[in-house]
Amino acid sequence: MRNEQACELLFEQSRPGRRASVLPSCDVPLHPWQELVPAEALADRPPPLPELSEPDVVRHYVNLSQFNMSVDTHFYPLGSCTMKYNPKRNDRLANLPGFSELHPYQPVQTVQGVLELLYQAQTMLAEIAGLPAVSLQPAAGAHGELTALLVAAAYFRDIRQKRSKVLIPDVAHGTNPASAAMAGFRIVQIPSTPQGLVDLEALNKELDADTAVFMITNPNTLGLFDPQMDRIGQMVHQVGGLVYLDGANMNAILGICRPGDFGVDMMHFNPHKTFSTPHGAGGPGAGPIAVSERLAPYLPVPLVVHTANGYRLDYDRPKSIGRVRTFFGNVGILLRMICYILTQGPTGLRQVAEQAVLNANYLLTRLKPLLPVPYGDRCMHEFVASAAKLRAERNISAMEIAKRLLDYGFYAPTVYFPLVVKEALMIEPTDTESKTTLDAFAEAIQKILQEPPELLQQAPHSTPISRPDEVQAARQPILRWQPTPIQPK
Ligand SMILES: *Cc1c(COP(=O)(O)O)cnc(C)c1O
Repeated sequence: MRNEQACELLFEQSRPGRRASVLPSCDVPLHPWQELVPAEALADRPPPLPELSEPDVVRHYVNLSQFNMSVDTHFYPLGSCTMKYNPKRNDRLANLPGFSELHPYQPVQTVQGVLELLYQAQTMLAEIAGLPAVSLQPAAGAHGELTALLVAAAYFRDIRQKRSKVLIPDVAHGTNPASAAMAGFRIVQIPSTPQGLVDLEALNKELDADTAVFMITNPNTLGLFDPQMDRIGQMVHQVGGLVYLDGANMNAILGICRPGDFGVDMMHFNPHKTFSTPHGAGGPGAGPIAVSERLAPYLPVPLVVHTANGYRLDYDRPKSIGRVRTFFGNVGILLRMICYILTQGPTGLRQVAEQAVLNANYLLTRLKPLLPVPYGDRCMHEFVASAAKLRAERNISAMEIAKRLLDYGFYAPTVYFPLVVKEALMIEPTDTESKTTLDAFAEAIQKILQEPPELLQQAPHSTPISRPDEVQAARQPILRWQPTPIQPK
């Protein structure tokens, strides 16, 4: 549905004097505001705010909210992002007044309940990771990566080893090299084998006394579990390095295997992926990390600890890297995660992973005759199809298939990532979708591939905006609306 008015900015809809509320006339003596407010605190003109009625504002935001696709409105097979359904029960519990009306500056004796839950969250994540120490503070997966790399840097400083390199496979998510660079490391890329796994020979060549960390995503972004993991751990540890697991793909292995048991020293979780907390739109996120015993002293402060006198925030950790976020992390999000984990229980979490892998393999099997999947006959929780052949033969690109899917009422897969697959479509159905939905998606792809290329090249045809210039939007975002100057009265 196109709604021209809703596409306008609030500033453009503004009409002088329009208001959302009308106050009763004043029944106390009036004072000019110039007498009440010190002169230096006065602006020389009113702020350039839009003037609107209440229905204007409500319609504007409700219409905007409906222009977007979301997990609540559409199937969202966005690879790497694990866009599973967010159970509403978790929102409801996190919004109980006993949680939502807490203030982070309250004395700890008055917040024992929430501290107990956060302590349990540390314990549960440690159990799932197979690593003993957890910090709930980081605010996103990428922030967890950065925090863990700062922990690694503090560890090497403390044991007086100078190590400058972080090794990262070529199929890694872009946040991995970005986090390593922000933490002050030099990045060395490790190529993948033709099977899409870590090239051990190439890894071996780079491993030396200057290697600080090897960062790996397992299962990787091709949706393949690297069975060489044990060997990789041994190789990295032999030269005194640490293994970091990017835990974004934990949805595939929850309750089946534990990173700490396959050679990992530190990892992050993405609660908005694996544990169904709300996702995207730059909203509050979380990226807790788990580390091994020898890295625990360097974790951010405070940690929640349990003593004979109840729960406490422990700041007395002299080797800590300090704070990485205010207070204890995004508690509202962590509560939703805790609720999800407790609802599933250990066997439920394992079923989540099994269902995610089953759904992905079902869809892989249905789509493979239509779109080649260059790496792997079977996958974990996601797979990467390629439109390279279609592009060559019929001039249909991955981007065009993705855009046309929007017209069929499906959100698009991730496209052009990972970079090792040409015309990549990275598809992750998640555990919460039914066979009916997966079948409908496969049938939509089948129909799209029979349509004339011209139809795809102009898609989507049904959305308020069809083809924004994404490159320019990323390079030159307009972050501030410039109001036309208000004429002084
Ligand atoms: C999503 C993702 C990240 C980054 O996590 P955010 O929570 O978005 O910061 C890192 N690595 C992989 C493989 C991911 O899919």
